[in-house]
Amino acid sequence: MGTTIAIPTALRPYADNQAEISVDGATVGELLAGLMEQFPELKRHLYSDEGKLRNFVNVYVNDDDIRFLEKEATPINDSDTVTIVPSVAGGTEGVMIDDDIELTNDEISRYSRHLILPEVGLSGQRKLKRAKVLLIGAGGLGSPLGLYLAAAGVGKIGFVDFDIVDFTNLQRQILHSTEDVGRPKLDSAKETLQGINPGVEVATYATRLSSDNAFDIMREYDMVIDGTDNFPTRYLVNDACVLLDKPNVYGSIFRFEGQASVFHAAKGPCYRCLYPEPPPPGLVPSCAEAGVLGVLPGIIGTIQATEAIKLIIGQGSSLVGRLILYDALGMTFKEMKLRKDPDCPLCGKNPTITELIDYEAFCGIPQQDQAAEEEKSHMKEMTTTELKNRLDDGATIRLVDVRNPEEYDICFIEGSVLIPLGELADRIGELNPDDEIVVHCKMGARSARAVAYMMENGFKNVTNLEGGILAWAQEVEPSMPTY
Ligand SMILES: [Zn+2]
Repeated sequence: MGTTIAIPTALRPYADNQAEISVDGATVGELLAGLMEQFPELKRHLYSDEGKLRNFVNVYVNDDDIRFLEKEATPINDSDTVTIVPSVAGGTEGVMIDDDIELTNDEISRYSRHLILPEVGLSGQRKLKRAKVLLIGAGGLGSPLGLYLAAAGVGKIGFVDFDIVDFTNLQRQILHSTEDVGRPKLDSAKETLQGINPGVEVATYATRLSSDNAFDIMREYDMVIDGTDNFPTRYLVNDACVLLDKPNVYGSIFRFEGQASVFHAAKGPCYRCLYPEPPPPGLVPSCAEAGVLGVLPGIIGTIQATEAIKLIIGQGSSLVGRLILYDALGMTFKEMKLRKDPDCPLCGKNPTITELIDYEAFCGIPQQDQAAEEEKSHMKEMTTTELKNRLDDGATIRLVDVRNPEEYDICFIEGSVLIPLGELADRIGELNPDDEIVVHCKMGARSARAVAYMMENGFKNVTNLEGGILAWAQEVEPSMPTY
């Protein structure tokens, strides 16, 4: 009589188009061996070359996943039903995208290396042509994302960005070239993508993504890819994706480290399940403050592009429920399991967030700005030209630079003493509270904190240099290198 094995639609072409097959065997392993003996073509779909059950094929005995039983040694009775569930089936992965669109002969030729992959084929390439993907940001992560998704033939790629290409972007934002400096990133991104693949539609949204426009912009897309560099937008993207039921392909970068995952609340955790609250403002420095290895967004953005393509063609195991941690210095990838938080305020059992909120306030940014303004209103400030004139007149001014040593190596104002902000508390004894002191950093924010600290510690005559060393370079010393 034997045990019944249910064959999923995707595998039926390799099993005489049968939905159920009866096989003899005492364990799951024996059963699968018997099945593959009858239908040898099934073998490469179920097992890897190393003879291991492919990790995107799940086998269930009645309702139980064999991974949580005795795996392939799980014993079987004739009354059991064994079901093979490849991750493509059952709607556990991917987004449903139709493949009802024809490819031109040019496209067939352009995508031939995709078409001969069984996992892509004509159907997968048609899905890619039908797919609409929205990229938040045309910067470090948006660059490899845009380039590879356009090359892969994603039918419509949307970019949300309002930045201008800056000279300091070119070290990592490979969508833009030297001659694009000063142009809107959207213009340069669109040109680059169309140069690679004129068949792809590129939609541009020259705006900051906000609670007011997020739904309107995101609605028509199949998924959103988060390439942002700030917490308010990151939470906004997450919340809007959950409320619109769209996958959010997540990536983030910091110095030499990156993270990637896929958040899709219908199938797994969301970003808030992982990080319910943002860090306090100022705790996590931005790439502009902390630096970033230029190639790092290339790695993380390419992982995001890979995940997007897999979701579109409905193949493989996505990063839903998994977080990849990449360390470029150690060259290691770590994988963490992510669980859906039943108490998540957004995607949990009793959600309290049911619409988009004020994300700047949620991330504590107005309070921070207000506090900074408050602090500044109590302190003296000086422009760079005033400082220059005073020094030329022979004034005795102690000039303190609170930047980091790496920044000091690039440029410094003659006669300044370097005391990085982080060392100020320990080294304040090196300064005389009765001297006239002018403090500067790169642009004026860190030095304002230093001035406030010094005033609290009894320094009477301490002044913040407006605009920092960048203003000095612009107004006083144009030959100085800037960063
Ligand atoms: Zn959640």
